[in-house]
Amino acid sequence: MQMIENFIGGRMIGTADGSFGIKLDPRTGDEMEHVAYSGAAEVSRAIETADLAFEAWRDMRPSERGRIMVEIGRILRNHGEHLGEIESRETGKPMHEMPALIDLTAQFFEFYGGIVNVMDGDVINQGPDYHVYTRRDPFGVIGVILPWNAPLHQAARAIAPALASGNTVVAKPSEHTPASLVELARLATEEAGLPAGVFNVIVGKGHTIGPAMIEHPKMQKISFTGSVRAGQELGRLAAERILPLTLELGGKSANIVFDDSDIDAAAKGSVRAFTWNSGQWCAAGTRLLVQRSIHEEFVEKFVAAVRALRVGPETDATSGPITTHAQFEKIQEYFTIAEQDGLTCVTGGKVSTGGRFGTGWYVEPTVYTGVSNDDTLAREEIFGPVVCIIPFEDEADAIRIANDSDFGLAAGIWSRDIGRVHRVAARLDAGRIVVNEYGGGFVQTPCGGFKQSGSGREQGIEALAHYTQLKSVIIRL
Ligand code: NAD
Repeated sequence: MQMIENFIGGRMIGTADGSFGIKLDPRTGDEMEHVAYSGAAEVSRAIETADLAFEAWRDMRPSERGRIMVEIGRILRNHGEHLGEIESRETGKPMHEMPALIDLTAQFFEFYGGIVNVMDGDVINQGPDYHVYTRRDPFGVIGVILPWNAPLHQAARAIAPALASGNTVVAKPSEHTPASLVELARLATEEAGLPAGVFNVIVGKGHTIGPAMIEHPKMQKISFTGSVRAGQELGRLAAERILPLTLELGGKSANIVFDDSDIDAAAKGSVRAFTWNSGQWCAAGTRLLVQRSIHEEFVEKFVAAVRALRVGPETDATSGPITTHAQFEKIQEYFTIAEQDGLTCVTGGKVSTGGRFGTGWYVEPTVYTGVSNDDTLAREEIFGPVVCIIPFEDEADAIRIANDSDFGLAAGIWSRDIGRVHRVAARLDAGRIVVNEYGGGFVQTPCGGFKQSGSGREQGIEALAHYTQLKSVIIRL
């Protein structure tokens, strides 16, 4: 069985004590690969290596750094099918999802590779006796800790701006999906001309690697994407060193359908909002707020569209299995809670086993009605294909319910009234508002959370502010 190892200083490196874990196949539950479970010694080696590579990478002319970044994008596209197969295998995503994800992953390197050429400080006029300006300097070694739901995309979102602005990286993929990122780092180093040691990957368990990363004196910043729980744990440790963190955490996003919307489009778009990637999507629209005057008509159309989905192991299935067994079990616990709370399950509410599903970890897309925004299912992130439909009366009521959440990652608005769209978008507590579709935004649009959904921003030009430190230079002439 293949062993997924660390990639440090341009070489594959195992663990000193031989520790490893077994990764299971979400489509069957069978053993799939071994994953090295690294410890503090490997973390330290990766950080020291990244630190040694830092000065030369920082001092490289931005146009040259940018050229290498764009080249990583090209290599990614060239090897797109190969990388897509690895990611589809580990996550269980149907292969037809992969070209779009590979394209987005490549775009991060291309975008930041271009923008690094115009990244600059400002001159601040203080009269003829001074020359004052600002510079944007990299931090040094940046740790990037990642989840399992969209491994390459999430990785590129943080790693591309970090590298483009002159930092070196030690990335830690989820222990459930490490292989595609190890392969990307290898390709970037061996084929795209990235100097060895600039982009390192350390594999293993979060509760071992995370603290070892934070405590290492040469680690300068962490970008973390994952659960609120792990984000809080990292935050407590980081406080000891005043280590800066970018936190991209969970969500319970409101998707609001007004009675002046195109109801057919809203019904169709709201299905993808909670079922894309089997609902394993931080920004998923899992609180579906529907104006009471169209509630009945909308629910009928929406549920018909949900029932038409085809979940399964086939390459052309709408969506695949749940990626980890723990997550598969967690979703089932929410089905039990829904039953205890007396929610109405209109469709789904169970797992799919046997027949064409075999022993895979498949969950039926599930719709609950009769949900109050105070119910557990409306308050907690489930991270599966489960949606709660909550009726509202008017604009003010929709805004009140949408904002009554610990999270604030994303929101959707369906309306043909342009005035209403702007009024509601201005009032919603969420880092991204999408109107008349429910998608993931663009590489160029900043992304991040209000409230417990995180702090800092990834994507867009804005991300560069989070991977550099602003310095003022004040010269008396
Ligand atoms: P997780 O928090 O369990 O794990 C994320 C990463 O952190 C993994 O690499 C894991 O090994 C590591 N980790 C776990 N415990 C740790 C600890 N104590 N210290 C340091 N690292 C630790 O999350 P997950 O289950 O992999 O992913 C699902 C979560 O990620 C969901 O909450 C989802 O909303 C969130 N997510 C957020 C975004 C976003 O952009 N906001 C994107 C994707 C996923």
